[in-house]
Amino acid sequence: MTDGRDHGGRDMFDEGDLVAVQTTQPLDRTLDYRAPEGGCVLGDFVEVPLGPRKVPGVVWGPGRGDFDRAKIRAVIRVLDVAPMREEMHDFLAKAADYTLTPMPVMLRLAMRAPGLGDPPSMRKIYRRGTGEPDRMTDARRRVLEVLEDYGGLAFTLKELAEMAGVTPSVVKGLVKHGAVREEDSPRDLPFPVLDPKLPGKPLTEDQAAAADVLRGHLRSRQYGTTLLKGVTGSGKTEVYLEAVSECLAMGRQALVLLPEIALTAEFLTRVEARFGAKPAEWHSGATMTERRRIWRMVGQGGAQLVVGARSALFLPFRDLGLIIVDEEHDTSYKQEDGVMYNARDMAVLRAAMAAARVVLASATPSLESWANAEAGKYDRLDLTARFGDAVLPEMRAIDMRVEKLEAGRWISPSLRGAVQARMEAGEQALLFLNRRGYAPVTICRACGHQIACDHCDARMVEHRFLKRLVCHQCGETRPMPEVCPSCGVEGRLAPVGPGIERLAEETAALFPEARIAVLSSDLFASARALKEKIVEIGAGGADIIIGTQLVAKGHNFPKLTLVGVIDADLGLQGSDLRAAERTFQLMRQVAGRAGRADKPGLALLQTFQPEHPVIRAILAGDEEGFWRAEAAERQAAGVPPYGRMAGIILSGTDAGAVFDLGNALARNAGPLHQIGAQVFGPAPAPIARIRGRHRVRLLVKAAKGAPLQAALARWLAPLRLKGDLRLSVDIDPQSFL
Ligand code: ADP
Ligand code: ZN
Repeated sequence: MTDGRDHGGRDMFDEGDLVAVQTTQPLDRTLDYRAPEGGCVLGDFVEVPLGPRKVPGVVWGPGRGDFDRAKIRAVIRVLDVAPMREEMHDFLAKAADYTLTPMPVMLRLAMRAPGLGDPPSMRKIYRRGTGEPDRMTDARRRVLEVLEDYGGLAFTLKELAEMAGVTPSVVKGLVKHGAVREEDSPRDLPFPVLDPKLPGKPLTEDQAAAADVLRGHLRSRQYGTTLLKGVTGSGKTEVYLEAVSECLAMGRQALVLLPEIALTAEFLTRVEARFGAKPAEWHSGATMTERRRIWRMVGQGGAQLVVGARSALFLPFRDLGLIIVDEEHDTSYKQEDGVMYNARDMAVLRAAMAAARVVLASATPSLESWANAEAGKYDRLDLTARFGDAVLPEMRAIDMRVEKLEAGRWISPSLRGAVQARMEAGEQALLFLNRRGYAPVTICRACGHQIACDHCDARMVEHRFLKRLVCHQCGETRPMPEVCPSCGVEGRLAPVGPGIERLAEETAALFPEARIAVLSSDLFASARALKEKIVEIGAGGADIIIGTQLVAKGHNFPKLTLVGVIDADLGLQGSDLRAAERTFQLMRQVAGRAGRADKPGLALLQTFQPEHPVIRAILAGDEEGFWRAEAAERQAAGVPPYGRMAGIILSGTDAGAVFDLGNALARNAGPLHQIGAQVFGPAPAPIARIRGRHRVRLLVKAAKGAPLQAALARWLAPLRLKGDLRLSVDIDPQSFL
């Protein structure tokens, strides 16, 4: 073992031995190769020849030996990274079975770092120098600004030039003047060491008790999941940072999953304050260099703590001891394209393989997690009080049936009065409307035509800020027309219904003096710009915040004391099985933004149905009652989490062919009937056309203990998709789109 790789007692293969290699290519089996010079071990990342190409793969086991030995080629080389651990292999295999995802696709998730195979080497990096350029140009200023923004970080030439939007020669020019320094640096440095011994904040009695329990769990070194339920502002983060601290002190690694990249800025600052350095940050916005560094360092133990998006679950941790899933109820944990997995469930699976602990943190847990805790599968810890003097906001309904409102206006006199009072007191108010754009519908007043997307079964949404119509399904945009595309009459197109931009307009008219900040994901050019805005608002840089669900998630706005929900009924209209749960969570989360510091908060919900059971449960704050009622309903209907479901989406450009396929599947559902499952459909999916493709949906329902995946696999195995037909399987669908 002279190559310095850690063989960790794994199976060794000598040069020339047959090994089975799993590649990322769409093949339904492993391929045999001969071990290269120097041999290889189980789990080694390798490069192998496949036809005329070289492809990456992993040594999966001994060769199958069912291929003509004379034709078997040799592994080209073993990549210089830690071999895949057995627990990762098992995790991928189980995850593939669970989500019915082919292994090559799964493996791609686990190899999401560029240049994995490149030998360790030196490279040039660029950081701010002490000099100043002889003269300042726009391009030069942009380069210096990027370096300034990232406070001391260094970049490769390509990255820096791209981020500043300049040519590399601009950077080189700055090097000449000493304004930028060029250095040689080994690739992939370890991350700064976090110190778990630094003191945390003094905890309240409740918090300390919860933290003690979590620490004890970690010391057991056994798998287990804890639901940490605590009202917003109760200190869940402080508590789970104590669990992170224990994990790091034990020399194990920790992973914190956050649903929203905009949340990470505040969190990173808190980690730095707690442990003395920043953790590794893994998300789609990270640079290639950074991704590669994290991937390698996680595998070598050079990164103790990773904060990231759901795909961080597939990083090759060397000794993962703890996974935190913050805001565990968040729908963005469910991947809806590519591999359809729920990061919350995958975190539990990953931890079970690694003898690690999971903490699911939320003020409004998903019904799944609540039920798992009820059933004793998860432990549960509750933080019931807000930290300090902060009290939970009072919640009240505004009965819209009795409010006097002009057409095209959405802020009721009652809400307006409440906002006015906040302005006079120098406090912040938040108006919440979960609808991007100016107006959800544009209608022609002459002919009644509603402008729809040409490719989707969806209306185009006016975005006045962009001066365009946008399809929220496929992203297609076009300029706002002057004349009706249907009848040709000019000047009669009118917006119908409110979007967040229109609400901003109304607010500005009502409160001309107020500083208004509109927070919607599409209004910011970059995640960084959005993060900055959030920090600015938190520091008091706005009087009225207007936001979509983006604002519901965990931001700390200390001056905020009023939340007005423009349309509390919005989420209740869907036919979705989770509509009630979603509305309940969203309303409670949004309301939780108010009164986080010393002033009490008030949440006002505009509703046309104040007697609706969900609205009443929200107002009463009777969470356990709500969950019990919701659980009973789902139990009676035999739906998740008390039954199992899978959604099958078929799509294609020829509607007839898609339906024929759906009908054929429904007719030949023997393997499903054998396990007692029912098949519904085919039926047009709720969004029956996206990007010109017709979509048809089948729904499979089975009893809780039924071997659903195995039956689905047998059902779909004989299927050969012709032409442009596509099929995707969504286990435990979150939404029925
Ligand atoms: P949650 O995650 O439950 O929403 P946080 O952990 O973010 O709650 O806590 C809310 C606020 O209260 C934060 O600003 C946090 O720093 C503060 N806080 C919570 N617990 C303590 C404590 N024991 N000492 C000092 N500040 C605390
Ligand atoms: Zn569209």
